[in-house]
Amino acid sequence: MNPFGNAPTEQIGCPFCGSVHSRQVRQRADIVQCESCNTVYLRTRLTKDAMYQLYQQYADGTSHMHIPATVAEAKQSGLRRDYLIDEITSHTKHKGVWLDVGCGWGAMLDNVRQRGFSPLGIELTRACADFATMQLQIPVSNVQLEDSRIEQNSCSVLSMVHVLEHLPYPKQALKRVYDILEPGGMFCGIVPNILSFCSDVQQEHWEWLDPFHHYVHYTPSTLRKHLEDVGFIIENMYTASGDYGKDIVANIVKQLLPQVQTQEDALGVVDVFNADGKGEEIRFFVRKPESSHQAQAKPDAGILDYAHRMLAQIQQSAPVQG
Ligand SMILES: [Zn+2]
Repeated sequence: MNPFGNAPTEQIGCPFCGSVHSRQVRQRADIVQCESCNTVYLRTRLTKDAMYQLYQQYADGTSHMHIPATVAEAKQSGLRRDYLIDEITSHTKHKGVWLDVGCGWGAMLDNVRQRGFSPLGIELTRACADFATMQLQIPVSNVQLEDSRIEQNSCSVLSMVHVLEHLPYPKQALKRVYDILEPGGMFCGIVPNILSFCSDVQQEHWEWLDPFHHYVHYTPSTLRKHLEDVGFIIENMYTASGDYGKDIVANIVKQLLPQVQTQEDALGVVDVFNADGKGEEIRFFVRKPESSHQAQAKPDAGILDYAHRMLAQIQQSAPVQG
């Protein structure tokens, strides 16, 4: 059965390293793990044209992103994410342009504007983009990041909250993010963690698997590698229950471990899992280096080995001191 209906599909290699060697890790869709770089990705997916058609349907249909009825309601929304913005701003040095990719109706951007940043959004769902533009007066474009005309080195912060996993060409997108940021700028966001406690327990039925719409399923280590490969410096990365809901995770802990009886005890176990990288979401805070000197690529293992050998030779032939 083709879960995509009659839409045309294609089978791809790893979206990061290109390898075609992989093994299936989930059955609900063709979700595989690359044998070369360990990235988990959707191997059989819609073609680029079919994806574009799907986005238009989202834009025309009812959105899962609830749009507030009034501006007053917008000012009270939990989607303003104070906790996340507090953490991001603890890393920022300069209040310039804050680009939120997948900004929805602009909740976070309205918040960062109050804190002195210049808000800029990208949102493909037109009803959301319209609310941000017309009701909140936030400039929002509805083209893909790759097609946007945002200038290089122009943003202080670029945020993506539950967005990176939806991008079909993530390697190219990360390169674009890096280029758009000013030196020292921060790239921050949240993705689901395919290695989370609930993902491991519930496997195919994990609520955040979203088997046909998540193109990449990140883990803390694959996300770290892909960010570092582009040139980012990791300032902080950790897992949390986050939007999944800590109580839901605690209930699953109690089902799995009958000896954990109270909710309080179960929540304590969840804290331990989160600190151990098994939280449902991964939060990342990474910086574009300040200078090209800092951005220097890691030397390849061969030349490093050569330099060490030569140094050892020099040290051996040097006269003994004293
Ligand atoms: Zn790969």
